[in-house]
Amino acid sequence: DEMQGPRRIRALHQDVVNKIAAGEIIVAPMHALKELIENAVDAGSTSLEILVKDGGLKLLQITDNGCGINKDDLPILCERFTTSKLKAFEDLTSIGTYGFRGEALASISHIAHLTVTTKTAESSCAWKAHYLGGKLAPLKPGQSEEPKACAGRPGTQIAVEDLFYNVPSRRQAFRSPSEEYAKIADVVGKYAVHCHGVAFSCKKHGEAGAGIAVPANATTRDRIRMIHNTAIANELIGLDLANSQYGFKVDGLVSNANYHGKRTTFLLFINHRSVDSSNMKKAIDQTYSMFLPKGGKPFTYLSLEIDPARVDVNVHPTKREVNFLNEAEIIELVCDEIRTRLGQVDTSRTFMTQS
Ligand code: ADP
Ligand code: MG
Repeated sequence: DEMQGPRRIRALHQDVVNKIAAGEIIVAPMHALKELIENAVDAGSTSLEILVKDGGLKLLQITDNGCGINKDDLPILCERFTTSKLKAFEDLTSIGTYGFRGEALASISHIAHLTVTTKTAESSCAWKAHYLGGKLAPLKPGQSEEPKACAGRPGTQIAVEDLFYNVPSRRQAFRSPSEEYAKIADVVGKYAVHCHGVAFSCKKHGEAGAGIAVPANATTRDRIRMIHNTAIANELIGLDLANSQYGFKVDGLVSNANYHGKRTTFLLFINHRSVDSSNMKKAIDQTYSMFLPKGGKPFTYLSLEIDPARVDVNVHPTKREVNFLNEAEIIELVCDEIRTRLGQVDTSRTFMTQS
Protein backbone atom coordinates (compact mmCIF):
# COMPACT_ATOMS: atom_id res chain seq x y z
CA ASP A 1 0.00 0.00 0.00
CA GLU A 2 1.02 3.50 -0.70
CA MET A 3 1.69 5.58 2.39
CA GLN A 4 -0.95 8.25 2.97
CA GLY A 5 -0.22 11.81 3.97
CA PRO A 6 -1.96 13.41 6.93
CA ARG A 7 -5.64 14.05 6.50
CA ARG A 8 -6.66 17.64 6.08
CA ILE A 9 -7.85 19.52 9.17
CA ARG A 10 -11.36 20.87 8.94
CA ALA A 11 -13.58 22.88 11.26
CA LEU A 12 -16.49 21.02 12.77
CA HIS A 13 -19.86 22.16 11.57
CA GLN A 14 -21.26 24.91 13.83
CA ASP A 15 -24.25 22.73 14.61
CA VAL A 16 -21.97 20.00 15.96
CA VAL A 17 -20.01 22.53 18.03
CA ASN A 18 -23.21 23.86 19.57
CA LYS A 19 -24.45 20.38 20.38
CA ILE A 20 -21.16 19.51 22.08
CA ALA A 21 -21.24 22.71 24.13
CA ALA A 22 -24.85 22.05 25.09
CA GLY A 23 -24.06 18.53 26.22
CA GLU A 24 -21.41 19.89 28.59
CA ILE A 25 -23.87 22.19 30.32
CA ILE A 26 -26.93 19.98 30.26
CA VAL A 27 -25.91 16.46 31.19
CA ALA A 28 -29.26 15.32 32.60
CA PRO A 29 -32.80 16.76 32.85
CA MET A 30 -32.03 18.06 36.36
CA HIS A 31 -29.40 20.42 34.92
CA ALA A 32 -31.85 21.96 32.49
CA LEU A 33 -34.36 22.38 35.27
CA LYS A 34 -31.83 24.03 37.60
CA GLU A 35 -31.13 26.67 34.94
CA LEU A 36 -34.85 27.23 34.37
CA ILE A 37 -35.52 27.60 38.10
CA GLU A 38 -32.67 30.10 38.43
CA ASN A 39 -34.02 32.11 35.49
CA ALA A 40 -37.52 32.15 36.99
CA VAL A 41 -36.21 33.32 40.37
CA ASP A 42 -34.00 35.92 38.67
CA ALA A 43 -37.17 37.22 36.97
CA GLY A 44 -38.60 38.07 40.38
CA SER A 45 -41.20 35.29 40.44
CA THR A 46 -43.11 34.44 43.60
CA SER A 47 -44.57 31.25 42.18
CA LEU A 48 -42.94 28.40 40.25
CA GLU A 49 -44.94 25.47 38.94
CA ILE A 50 -43.05 22.52 37.53
CA LEU A 51 -44.47 19.67 35.49
CA VAL A 52 -42.40 16.60 34.57
CA LYS A 53 -43.10 13.79 32.11
CA ASP A 54 -40.90 10.68 31.87
CA GLY A 55 -38.27 11.95 34.26
CA GLY A 56 -38.02 15.18 32.29
CA LEU A 57 -36.95 13.48 29.07
CA LYS A 58 -40.38 13.82 27.45
CA LEU A 59 -41.34 17.14 29.07
CA LEU A 60 -39.97 19.63 31.55
CA GLN A 61 -42.29 22.57 31.98
CA ILE A 62 -41.91 25.49 34.32
CA THR A 63 -44.42 28.27 34.73
CA ASP A 64 -43.51 31.41 36.63
CA ASN A 65 -45.18 34.73 37.45
CA GLY A 66 -42.06 36.83 36.96
CA CYS A 67 -41.34 39.89 34.83
CA GLY A 68 -41.75 38.11 31.49
CA ILE A 69 -39.67 38.65 28.35
CA ASN A 70 -40.08 41.52 25.91
CA LYS A 71 -41.53 40.41 22.59
CA ASP A 72 -38.69 42.20 20.78
CA ASP A 73 -36.14 40.06 22.62
CA LEU A 74 -37.69 36.76 21.56
CA PRO A 75 -35.70 36.44 18.28
CA ILE A 76 -32.36 36.44 20.16
CA LEU A 77 -33.53 34.76 23.39
CA CYS A 78 -31.89 31.44 22.59
CA GLU A 79 -28.77 32.65 20.87
CA ARG A 80 -25.55 31.79 22.68
CA PHE A 81 -24.27 34.51 25.02
CA THR A 82 -27.42 36.60 24.96
CA THR A 83 -28.37 37.72 28.44
CA SER A 84 -30.03 40.58 30.27
CA LYS A 85 -27.74 39.99 33.25
CA LEU A 86 -24.25 41.07 32.32
CA LYS A 87 -22.71 43.47 29.89
CA ALA A 88 -18.94 43.35 30.29
CA PHE A 89 -16.41 40.87 31.57
CA GLU A 90 -15.96 42.97 34.72
CA ASP A 91 -19.61 42.40 35.51
CA LEU A 92 -18.81 38.73 35.99
CA THR A 93 -17.28 39.72 39.32
CA SER A 94 -20.30 41.61 40.59
CA ILE A 95 -23.35 39.58 39.76
CA GLY A 96 -26.16 39.06 42.17
CA THR A 97 -28.29 36.96 39.87
CA TYR A 98 -27.93 33.24 39.37
CA GLY A 99 -27.14 32.52 35.77
CA PHE A 100 -24.39 34.58 34.30
CA ARG A 101 -23.62 34.19 30.68
CA GLY A 102 -26.66 33.55 28.61
CA GLU A 103 -25.90 29.96 27.74
CA ALA A 104 -28.70 28.01 29.34
CA LEU A 105 -31.58 28.58 26.94
CA ALA A 106 -29.25 28.42 23.95
CA SER A 107 -27.93 25.05 25.11
CA ILE A 108 -31.37 23.64 25.74
CA SER A 109 -32.59 24.73 22.31
CA HIS A 110 -29.77 22.73 20.69
CA ILE A 111 -30.72 19.45 22.32
CA ALA A 112 -34.50 19.75 22.81
CA HIS A 113 -37.66 21.35 21.45
CA LEU A 114 -38.11 24.57 23.39
CA THR A 115 -41.34 26.54 23.57
CA VAL A 116 -41.59 29.84 25.41
CA THR A 117 -44.85 31.59 26.27
CA THR A 118 -44.34 34.91 27.97
CA LYS A 119 -46.13 38.10 28.93
CA THR A 120 -44.74 41.27 30.47
CA ALA A 121 -46.92 43.55 32.60
CA GLU A 122 -47.02 46.14 29.77
CA SER A 123 -48.00 43.77 26.99
CA SER A 124 -51.68 43.35 26.21
CA CYS A 125 -51.22 39.70 25.26
CA ALA A 126 -48.81 36.83 25.71
CA TRP A 127 -46.40 35.66 22.99
CA LYS A 128 -45.56 32.11 22.14
CA ALA A 129 -42.32 31.19 20.40
CA HIS A 130 -40.69 27.92 19.44
CA TYR A 131 -36.94 27.36 19.13
CA LEU A 132 -34.58 24.90 17.49
CA GLY A 133 -30.81 25.20 17.37
CA GLY A 134 -30.76 28.65 18.96
CA LYS A 135 -33.22 30.18 16.49
CA LEU A 136 -36.92 30.82 16.21
CA ALA A 137 -38.57 27.92 14.41
CA PRO A 138 -42.11 27.14 13.27
CA LEU A 139 -44.28 25.49 15.92
CA LYS A 140 -45.57 23.14 13.23
CA PRO A 141 -44.13 22.45 9.77
CA GLY A 142 -45.34 24.99 7.25
CA GLN A 143 -46.19 27.62 9.86
CA SER A 144 -44.39 30.90 10.32
CA GLU A 145 -41.55 31.05 12.82
CA GLU A 146 -42.73 34.44 14.10
CA PRO A 147 -43.90 34.51 17.75
CA LYS A 148 -47.67 34.15 17.96
CA ALA A 149 -49.99 36.31 20.06
CA CYS A 150 -52.03 34.32 22.54
CA ALA A 151 -53.86 34.67 25.83
CA GLY A 152 -51.84 34.29 28.99
CA ARG A 153 -51.07 35.55 32.45
CA PRO A 154 -48.05 37.73 33.20
CA GLY A 155 -44.90 35.66 33.55
CA THR A 156 -43.18 32.98 31.54
CA GLN A 157 -43.81 29.37 30.74
CA ILE A 158 -40.96 27.33 29.31
CA ALA A 159 -41.55 23.86 27.92
CA VAL A 160 -38.60 21.61 27.12
CA GLU A 161 -39.67 18.59 25.11
CA ASP A 162 -37.77 15.49 23.98
CA LEU A 163 -34.51 16.39 25.66
CA PHE A 164 -31.50 14.80 23.88
CA TYR A 165 -33.72 13.80 20.92
CA ASN A 166 -30.73 14.46 18.64
CA VAL A 167 -28.08 12.97 20.94
CA PRO A 168 -29.08 9.29 20.83
CA SER A 169 -26.10 8.09 22.87
CA ARG A 170 -27.01 10.44 25.72
CA ARG A 171 -30.68 9.62 25.46
CA GLN A 172 -29.96 5.91 25.73
CA ALA A 173 -27.86 6.42 28.84
CA PHE A 174 -31.03 7.13 30.84
CA ARG A 175 -32.44 3.87 32.00
CA SER A 176 -35.00 4.94 34.56
CA PRO A 177 -37.31 7.96 34.37
CA SER A 178 -38.02 7.61 38.08
CA GLU A 179 -34.31 8.02 38.86
CA GLU A 180 -34.24 11.23 36.82
CA TYR A 181 -37.42 12.41 38.51
CA ALA A 182 -35.83 11.83 41.91
CA LYS A 183 -32.89 14.05 40.91
CA ILE A 184 -35.29 16.70 39.64
CA ALA A 185 -37.26 16.60 42.90
CA ASP A 186 -33.98 16.95 44.77
CA VAL A 187 -33.08 20.14 42.88
CA VAL A 188 -36.58 21.57 43.27
CA GLY A 189 -36.47 20.73 46.98
CA LYS A 190 -33.19 22.58 47.44
CA TYR A 191 -34.49 25.77 45.82
CA ALA A 192 -37.82 25.40 47.63
CA VAL A 193 -35.95 25.44 50.95
CA HIS A 194 -33.74 28.35 49.95
CA CYS A 195 -36.06 30.75 48.10
CA HIS A 196 -38.22 32.20 50.84
CA GLY A 197 -41.12 34.23 49.54
CA VAL A 198 -41.45 31.91 46.54
CA ALA A 199 -44.10 29.19 46.18
CA PHE A 200 -43.01 25.93 44.55
CA SER A 201 -44.93 23.04 43.15
CA CYS A 202 -43.59 20.06 41.26
CA LYS A 203 -45.60 17.22 39.87
CA LYS A 204 -45.33 14.25 37.58
CA HIS A 205 -47.56 14.36 34.51
CA GLY A 206 -50.69 12.29 35.06
CA GLU A 207 -50.54 12.36 38.83
CA ALA A 208 -53.24 14.24 40.67
CA GLY A 209 -51.28 15.66 43.58
CA ALA A 210 -48.05 17.60 43.55
CA GLY A 211 -44.95 15.77 44.74
CA ILE A 212 -43.71 19.05 46.16
CA ALA A 213 -45.95 21.89 47.28
CA VAL A 214 -44.65 24.84 49.27
CA PRO A 215 -46.63 28.06 49.71
CA ALA A 216 -44.96 31.44 49.24
CA ASN A 217 -45.35 32.48 52.88
CA ALA A 218 -43.77 29.35 54.42
CA THR A 219 -40.85 30.00 56.77
CA THR A 220 -37.54 28.29 56.08
CA ARG A 221 -38.23 25.86 58.93
CA ASP A 222 -41.67 25.06 57.43
CA ARG A 223 -40.03 24.56 54.06
CA ILE A 224 -37.64 22.03 55.58
CA ARG A 225 -40.59 20.32 57.28
CA MET A 226 -42.44 20.05 53.94
CA ILE A 227 -39.51 19.02 51.78
CA HIS A 228 -37.76 16.83 54.34
CA ASN A 229 -39.62 15.93 57.54
CA THR A 230 -40.86 17.01 60.94
CA ALA A 231 -38.17 15.09 62.82
CA ILE A 232 -35.57 17.34 61.19
CA ALA A 233 -37.62 20.55 61.35
CA ASN A 234 -38.11 20.13 65.12
CA GLU A 235 -34.40 19.84 65.83
CA LEU A 236 -32.85 22.77 63.99
CA ILE A 237 -30.61 25.51 65.23
CA GLY A 238 -30.05 28.76 63.41
CA LEU A 239 -26.64 29.89 62.27
CA ASP A 240 -25.86 33.52 61.66
CA LEU A 241 -22.29 34.55 61.18
CA ALA A 242 -20.53 37.39 59.40
CA ASN A 243 -16.84 37.95 58.87
CA SER A 244 -15.32 41.02 57.30
CA GLN A 245 -11.78 39.66 57.05
CA TYR A 246 -12.81 37.02 54.50
CA GLY A 247 -15.78 38.98 53.15
CA PHE A 248 -18.54 36.48 53.81
CA LYS A 249 -21.63 35.85 55.85
CA VAL A 250 -23.49 32.65 56.48
CA ASP A 251 -27.08 32.02 57.38
CA GLY A 252 -28.54 28.61 57.89
CA LEU A 253 -30.43 25.97 59.78
CA VAL A 254 -28.59 22.87 60.92
CA SER A 255 -29.71 19.89 62.97
CA ASN A 256 -28.82 19.76 66.65
CA ALA A 257 -27.37 16.81 68.52
CA ASN A 258 -30.82 15.32 69.09
CA TYR A 259 -31.19 14.48 65.43
CA HIS A 260 -29.21 12.09 63.32
CA GLY A 261 -29.93 10.43 60.01
CA LYS A 262 -28.28 7.69 57.99
CA ARG A 263 -26.84 10.09 55.45
CA THR A 264 -25.72 13.69 55.56
CA THR A 265 -28.14 16.12 53.98
CA PHE A 266 -26.05 19.05 52.83
CA LEU A 267 -27.80 21.96 51.13
CA LEU A 268 -25.29 24.62 50.19
CA PHE A 269 -26.05 27.88 48.45
CA ILE A 270 -23.32 30.30 47.55
CA ASN A 271 -24.64 33.69 46.50
CA HIS A 272 -28.05 32.07 46.05
CA ARG A 273 -26.95 29.33 43.70
CA SER A 274 -27.05 25.69 44.73
CA VAL A 275 -23.47 24.39 44.54
CA ASP A 276 -21.38 21.46 45.70
CA SER A 277 -18.43 21.62 48.04
CA SER A 278 -17.05 18.26 48.99
CA ASN A 279 -14.48 19.98 51.23
CA MET A 280 -17.13 21.75 53.28
CA LYS A 281 -19.30 18.65 53.50
CA LYS A 282 -16.37 16.62 54.79
CA ALA A 283 -15.48 19.24 57.41
CA ILE A 284 -19.08 19.47 58.62
CA ASP A 285 -19.38 15.69 58.90
CA GLN A 286 -16.21 15.71 60.95
CA THR A 287 -17.58 18.45 63.23
CA TYR A 288 -20.79 16.52 63.87
CA SER A 289 -19.02 13.22 64.50
CA MET A 290 -18.08 14.52 67.96
CA PHE A 291 -21.74 15.16 68.84
CA LEU A 292 -23.64 12.33 67.16
CA PRO A 293 -23.73 8.58 67.81
CA LYS A 294 -21.40 6.56 65.61
CA GLY A 295 -22.62 6.59 62.00
CA GLY A 296 -25.21 9.30 62.72
CA LYS A 297 -25.33 12.12 60.16
CA PRO A 298 -26.63 15.69 60.30
CA PHE A 299 -28.98 17.81 58.23
CA THR A 300 -27.42 21.12 57.19
CA TYR A 301 -28.74 23.98 55.12
CA LEU A 302 -26.26 26.82 54.62
CA SER A 303 -26.63 29.99 52.64
CA LEU A 304 -23.23 31.53 52.15
CA GLU A 305 -22.85 34.99 50.75
CA ILE A 306 -19.35 35.77 49.62
CA ASP A 307 -18.12 39.06 48.20
CA PRO A 308 -18.55 38.31 44.46
CA ALA A 309 -15.03 39.58 43.81
CA ARG A 310 -13.77 36.60 45.82
CA VAL A 311 -15.78 33.97 43.97
CA ASP A 312 -14.68 32.44 40.72
CA VAL A 313 -17.95 31.55 39.06
CA ASN A 314 -16.30 30.78 35.79
CA VAL A 315 -14.60 27.51 36.73
CA HIS A 316 -16.58 25.23 34.47
CA PRO A 317 -19.69 25.55 32.33
CA THR A 318 -21.58 23.20 34.61
CA LYS A 319 -21.09 25.70 37.46
CA ARG A 320 -21.58 22.97 40.03
CA GLU A 321 -18.33 23.45 41.96
CA VAL A 322 -17.49 27.05 42.77
CA ASN A 323 -14.05 28.28 43.79
CA PHE A 324 -13.63 31.03 46.35
CA LEU A 325 -10.74 32.66 48.16
CA ASN A 326 -9.83 31.52 51.68
CA GLU A 327 -11.97 28.42 51.31
CA ALA A 328 -10.19 26.59 54.13
CA GLU A 329 -10.50 29.53 56.54
CA ILE A 330 -14.17 30.06 55.76
CA ILE A 331 -14.95 26.35 56.22
CA GLU A 332 -13.10 26.40 59.53
CA LEU A 333 -15.09 29.42 60.79
CA VAL A 334 -18.39 27.85 59.74
CA CYS A 335 -17.49 24.61 61.53
CA ASP A 336 -16.37 26.54 64.64
CA GLU A 337 -19.76 28.21 64.72
CA ILE A 338 -21.59 24.90 64.36
CA ARG A 339 -19.43 23.39 67.13
CA THR A 340 -20.19 26.30 69.47
CA ARG A 341 -23.92 26.16 68.78
CA LEU A 342 -24.06 22.38 69.22
CA GLY A 343 -22.24 22.73 72.53
CA GLN A 344 -24.74 25.33 73.75
CA VAL A 345 -27.81 23.16 73.24
CA ASP A 346 -29.04 21.02 76.12
CA THR A 347 -27.17 17.77 75.73
CA SER A 348 -29.10 15.55 78.15
CA ARG A 349 -31.04 13.87 75.37
CA THR A 350 -27.89 13.41 73.38
CA PHE A 351 -26.35 11.25 76.05
CA MET A 352 -29.52 9.18 76.18
CA THR A 353 -29.57 8.50 72.46
CA GLN A 354 -25.90 7.61 72.51
CA SER A 355 -26.28 4.87 75.13
P1 ADP B 1 -28.68 33.97 31.66
O1 ADP B 1 -29.61 33.49 32.73
O2 ADP B 1 -27.26 33.62 31.96
O3 ADP B 1 -28.88 35.41 31.30
P2 ADP B 1 -30.22 32.24 29.98
O4 ADP B 1 -29.93 31.57 28.68
O5 ADP B 1 -30.54 31.37 31.14
O6 ADP B 1 -28.97 33.13 30.33
O7 ADP B 1 -31.38 33.29 29.77
C1 ADP B 1 -31.23 34.30 28.79
C2 ADP B 1 -32.11 35.49 29.10
O8 ADP B 1 -33.47 35.14 28.93
C3 ADP B 1 -32.01 35.99 30.53
O9 ADP B 1 -30.94 36.90 30.70
C4 ADP B 1 -33.36 36.66 30.74
O10 ADP B 1 -33.33 37.98 30.26
C5 ADP B 1 -34.28 35.86 29.85
N1 ADP B 1 -35.08 34.87 30.61
C6 ADP B 1 -34.86 33.53 30.68
N2 ADP B 1 -35.79 32.92 31.44
C7 ADP B 1 -36.62 33.89 31.87
C8 ADP B 1 -37.80 33.90 32.71
N3 ADP B 1 -38.29 32.78 33.26
N4 ADP B 1 -38.41 35.11 32.94
C9 ADP B 1 -37.92 36.25 32.38
N5 ADP B 1 -36.81 36.30 31.59
C10 ADP B 1 -36.17 35.14 31.33
MG1 MG C 1 -29.96 31.56 33.22
